[in-house]
Amino acid sequence: MPIKKNAPPVDINKRRAINGEDADVIQLSPMKHKWAWEYYNAANANHWLPTEISMQLDIEQWKSPTILTQDERHAFETVLGFFTTADSIAANNIVIANYRHITSPEIRMYLLRQAYEEAIHTHAYQYIVESLGMDEAKIFNMYRERDAIYNKASFILAFNEGIFDPTFKTGTLENDQKYLENLCIFSLIVEGIFFYSSFAVMFGFQRQHKLTGSAEQIQYIMRDESMHLNFGCQLINTIREEQPELWTKEFQDKIVGYIREAARLEYTYAQEVFPAGIFGMNASGFKQYIEHIADRRLERVGLPVQFGVANPFPWMSEAIDLPKEKNFFETRVTEYKTGGALDW
Ligand code: FE
Repeated sequence: MPIKKNAPPVDINKRRAINGEDADVIQLSPMKHKWAWEYYNAANANHWLPTEISMQLDIEQWKSPTILTQDERHAFETVLGFFTTADSIAANNIVIANYRHITSPEIRMYLLRQAYEEAIHTHAYQYIVESLGMDEAKIFNMYRERDAIYNKASFILAFNEGIFDPTFKTGTLENDQKYLENLCIFSLIVEGIFFYSSFAVMFGFQRQHKLTGSAEQIQYIMRDESMHLNFGCQLINTIREEQPELWTKEFQDKIVGYIREAARLEYTYAQEVFPAGIFGMNASGFKQYIEHIADRRLERVGLPVQFGVANPFPWMSEAIDLPKEKNFFETRVTEYKTGGALDW
């Protein structure tokens, strides 16, 4: 867009998340969506890198023929098989599809940070795979070979098609709904549901004092993802406020349907990957847990809960689902914190 020479400062009252009238996206301040700036600062305060975490114990345990069972090795490889490609899908959606439609510079600032975090996550998985001397081609290709992972990745990628098109533009009811649909899929489902049975498994390892370096990497990732989810919900709710005409009954029903389908894909994944259960989590536990968190995601954007089940893994809830709870990152995070920034 050409610069409007000698134009007055941008009127921030006209600023919108998408479809801003004076869509000058390079004047950051003054800001309208201050919440996005707060997310940006909170994310910076949580900065971490995979190479800072010692993998020594994991390397010894992975080499040992006795410490890990065959089921545990299989579970660990499979969750990595999902993780290794999922964050690349998320990053591509932000950078190639989502970012360019945002007309608020402060919201863009957080998306830039989020995209970098997705790169750090992919780096973390690569670092684990490399440290343990795992078969890289096998792990990174699993999304094409294992049905349970393939089905989740295909479900997500189907929603890229519209807004990835370089000629796609917001500004009509149909396209704005398509954009909002993409946001709901990525925030509520990719960030909010599809990682969670794998997270639960990694916590299982940690509680057994196994592969604790990898588990610590995943804890940092989970904290970031939790913020991505919260930011995404706030962005969805901001667009709902700014353009209430998009949030029709029909649209809401469609999103609820996708979330029900995603919950089914996620617990099917858990059941296929861990047919005999793992660390005390069995098929019905995974199903109930995924349904429980799916309801929480629906609530966040004002949609009706679908399952009404209790959380069978309360230790997960303490760790991530409840912001401002006592958290278990305290020991390390103080190194980065500049004060009070851990209310994620
Ligand atoms: Fe993410």
